[in-house]
Amino acid sequence: MFLFLLACAAREPVLPTPPPALVVPPPSIDRGTQWVHGSDAHKAVLATIYQDAAEELAERAQALAPETAWAVVSDVDETLVDNSGYQLETFGNFTPETWAVWEEQGKAVAYPGSVELVAQVHELGGKMAFVTNRANHPATLALLQAQGLWMEGDVLCTRTESSDKSARRASVLEGGSLCGWPEMPVQVLGYWGDQMGDFPSADEASSAPAEDWGETWFMLPNPMYGSWAE
Ligand SMILES: [Mg+2]
Repeated sequence: MFLFLLACAAREPVLPTPPPALVVPPPSIDRGTQWVHGSDAHKAVLATIYQDAAEELAERAQALAPETAWAVVSDVDETLVDNSGYQLETFGNFTPETWAVWEEQGKAVAYPGSVELVAQVHELGGKMAFVTNRANHPATLALLQAQGLWMEGDVLCTRTESSDKSARRASVLEGGSLCGWPEMPVQVLGYWGDQMGDFPSADEASSAPAEDWGETWFMLPNPMYGSWAE
């Protein structure tokens, strides 16, 4: 009997209690991206700014002498199109490699109201100068066309060796060859962007008054990323 019990004990060893499974929390989406991607508040802010920009523009365009060549200088990302999908896909971890794929795939979408705003520029007789630090020119042009933001006669100025946009803005004004319409200087009736670098610096030539917020300068909100976060 003793040997039998000994044999049973040998066959059924008492195993140590396993440690509790590790709980790995899912990566979180930051509040700024949530706000841009899904909030009605963001849509309301966009509608407010776009409406103001459209009204100011109409006033200025109609006050110009006939045949005056004019344009709006606008950034693209987070000014006219939404890349919160990229932020969601990458959990806000920007890398040049994943961004290049995003650009190539053309997955940004026009913000509600941006197509109508740009259409108004064209209807008023102006042109768009899209000045962006995207690097992929063909993919960006295809995106603008697909989203209904592009019209024949507009210009797209993608990133040069420098992310500084001042030389491209100067070229638009002067009718240079770097950006804009060669041999055709234009008046710029509006600057639209989501970063300070989208607007002329204090010592930069501009046909719109400096720091003319809400008149010719319109800043769109971007709580997801920017030079302020670096
Ligand atoms: Mg931008």
